[in-house]
Amino acid sequence: MPMQPSLFISHGSPMMLVQDGELRQFLGSLGDSLNAAFGRPDAILIASAHWMTPRPVVGAAAALETIHDFYGFPDAMYEFTYCPPGAPDLAERAGAALAGAGIEPERDATRGLDHGAWMPLRYMYPDADIPVAQVSVQPHLGPAHHLALGAALEALRAANILVIGSGNLTHNLGEMGRGRGDDAPAPWAVEFAEWVKAALDEGRLAELVNYLHHAPGGRRAHPTDEHFLPLFLAMGAGGAGAAVERIHNSYTGGAVCNDCYRFG
Ligand code: ZN
Repeated sequence: MPMQPSLFISHGSPMMLVQDGELRQFLGSLGDSLNAAFGRPDAILIASAHWMTPRPVVGAAAALETIHDFYGFPDAMYEFTYCPPGAPDLAERAGAALAGAGIEPERDATRGLDHGAWMPLRYMYPDADIPVAQVSVQPHLGPAHHLALGAALEALRAANILVIGSGNLTHNLGEMGRGRGDDAPAPWAVEFAEWVKAALDEGRLAELVNYLHHAPGGRRAHPTDEHFLPLFLAMGAGGAGAAVERIHNSYTGGAVCNDCYRFG
């Protein structure tokens, strides 16, 4: 069986639950295409921008509640649930892998899945039959830390575990809808996204890690870092010199780029 890849997934807006679009269409086909190429994973380890903790935490709950961590959306969205089996065994293995890399994580035996985790999985694996464990991100520790987190988790891919970092390639919500109407991509968002693609394609890792210094419009693309950091976790889990492919490119509201990447 081939090794599972690692993925960076843009999870888009919560509105995706009630509004179709290019990202939702893509995610709806992604599970099947991954299964065809890599086989069905035994479990999924996912890091989401919406679980931020001071130190790394691995979610080890056997049953996963659906956390509706968004506000001011239509009522129906708060009734939706996505409840795959939890993966306490995987959480244990991930915790051991992190500890082995000198990153001792905490365990959380009760936390469910936030929308950064369940939203993409709901479209990728609508049957909710693949066990899931979530890991947290630490925005104050920056890109290099998340690269190290991912590298520590790389070996799980050989054990048929799909590793996912879920964020957004750009995430400036304040500038959504200020474009030239419709979803026309904002030039600064395109410039940032294409810089990221070129840097990934050319293996310019040091520039990516220091993206606020090197990328055009880094702070405009990410007023805060947490939605970009899962990219580094996915990259790290891909391993040194991993093949990288942009597997999706679209924009929401002009300012939010939904690019997705596969590593390995
Ligand atoms: Zn988000």
